[in-house]
Amino acid sequence: MQRPLADAYGRVATDLRVSLTDRCNLRCSYCMPAEGLDWLPHDEVLTDDEVVRLIEIGVRRLGIREVRFTGGEPLIRRGLVDIVRRTRALGEDLELSVTTNALGLERNAQALAEAGLDRVNISLDTLDPERFRTITRRDRLDDVLRGAKAAHNAGLTPVKINAVLLRGVNDDDACELLHWAIDHEYELRFIEQMPLDAQHGWERSEMVTAGEVMQRLREGFELTPDPAERGGAPAERWLVDGGPAVVGVIASVTRPFCGACDRTRLTADGQIRSCLFARTETDLRAMLRGGSTDTEIADVWRNAMWGKLAGHGIDDPGFLQPDRPMSAIGG
Ligand code: SAM
Repeated sequence: MQRPLADAYGRVATDLRVSLTDRCNLRCSYCMPAEGLDWLPHDEVLTDDEVVRLIEIGVRRLGIREVRFTGGEPLIRRGLVDIVRRTRALGEDLELSVTTNALGLERNAQALAEAGLDRVNISLDTLDPERFRTITRRDRLDDVLRGAKAAHNAGLTPVKINAVLLRGVNDDDACELLHWAIDHEYELRFIEQMPLDAQHGWERSEMVTAGEVMQRLREGFELTPDPAERGGAPAERWLVDGGPAVVGVIASVTRPFCGACDRTRLTADGQIRSCLFARTETDLRAMLRGGSTDTEIADVWRNAMWGKLAGHGIDDPGFLQPDRPMSAIGG
């Protein structure tokens, strides 16, 4: 490794989020409109070879220790298993995971595990089929549940379940989700809704806060702080009824953790972003396709990260939502 991805505030990025596509097979109401979005043209999306080359530069030259594949929906990327296999070949000690809605995971879990994936994060906001259909605009709850089970059986553990609560929709689902997660040995985390939706419909006053989630959970469980070191992890973890089960709460808006952020992001079209909320991107695809060397690409990537802002700025009076929605950045 040469110089790492440091920024001017003393943080070092070692966790790379790689978006493999901006397309998705669900239409979660808080993420994108029913009709979907204008997807990236095929030729603008990085090829498998380009993705792996950038990951290799990240790992060999910039100190990346953890790679998370996301999207859009990463399972709809045809080359996913092969990309995982080639990434694993870069180092046995790399931590490799996928963030997915789990549609089709039942079919792929074993192959992903054999390719070297360590674990999965599955997004699931409710266990009620009607509510699931309302939130995602698709009738696929059973596929998600089967996908989670297959991931667990394939050893992609701990299977983490990420849930977003929406006021008046599923905000009373917190305890049921936690009972279910504990029964199935999954690790549940609640994430505050962020201003990253394509429709720009997010309102702070409507958001279900981490504080409210805790209040809901305490109606059914005793929660005590998990003494384990949090490090750069976004989730505050709580022992459930004394442990060993834990639940996480990711308070991205009300208790931001930007000071400990160790992430760098690569979009499906080859842009580096230093933050989900960054308003600038750095084009590595043009460099890849223009014949730049690995050294040149690594230098530009370092410069992009050096300029990372101290915080996401959601509370600043002049806050502007990024131009791209979460699904196009890679959540
Ligand atoms: N399709 C994959 C999935 O469902 O996990 C990966 C991409 S998706 C954008 C990643 C996560 O972002 C999901 O857990 C989803 O619930 C979450 N998400 C989408 N929009 C969000 C928002 N505005 N605020 C908070 N989380 C959001």
